[in-house]
Amino acid sequence: MRNNENEIPNRFDPIHVIGKNIIDTTLSPISNILCPVCKKPGIPVKNVTVRHIVKKEQMERVGKGDYHLCMDPECDVAYYDENSTIFDKENIRVPLWFKKDANPKYACYCSRITENEVIKAVLEQGLHDMGTIREFYDKGAKCQCKVRNPTGNCCSKVFNAAICKGIELKK
Ligand SMILES: [Zn+2]
Repeated sequence: MRNNENEIPNRFDPIHVIGKNIIDTTLSPISNILCPVCKKPGIPVKNVTVRHIVKKEQMERVGKGDYHLCMDPECDVAYYDENSTIFDKENIRVPLWFKKDANPKYACYCSRITENEVIKAVLEQGLHDMGTIREFYDKGAKCQCKVRNPTGNCCSKVFNAAICKGIELKK
């Protein structure tokens, strides 16, 4: 089935697909402190977000400061701070969608909806917007991005990029 080209939203330009990973470079400013392991810049993340994302047994190490999230798909580091405190992928409760081996790959952390589920909703249910797709999987879903999304930012850009992927597949 081919969709009318005009129906495809074009407001998702800031999304960049690096390899197979959707990375939104407009989420946050880039940190000036580099990841101690891969030496690449991450994005700033508030302490409150990190506290909710790390595993219980790691909580003590979090302290009071803010963190940075390593955005390199190949690097095992999740959060780091300027004192080189590191929480790697194994230290946190959810897989980071942009890391190379993320499984499952969440598009929405609030409702725990995977990228594949979003694509499926587009292909099989003909749903094309975030609100309807969230409602389909999680009735009465609430936005809790600040404590559920590992970036502390809204899931919508990555979610919308997954919708676009589904629309592309449908063509
Ligand atoms: Zn890194």
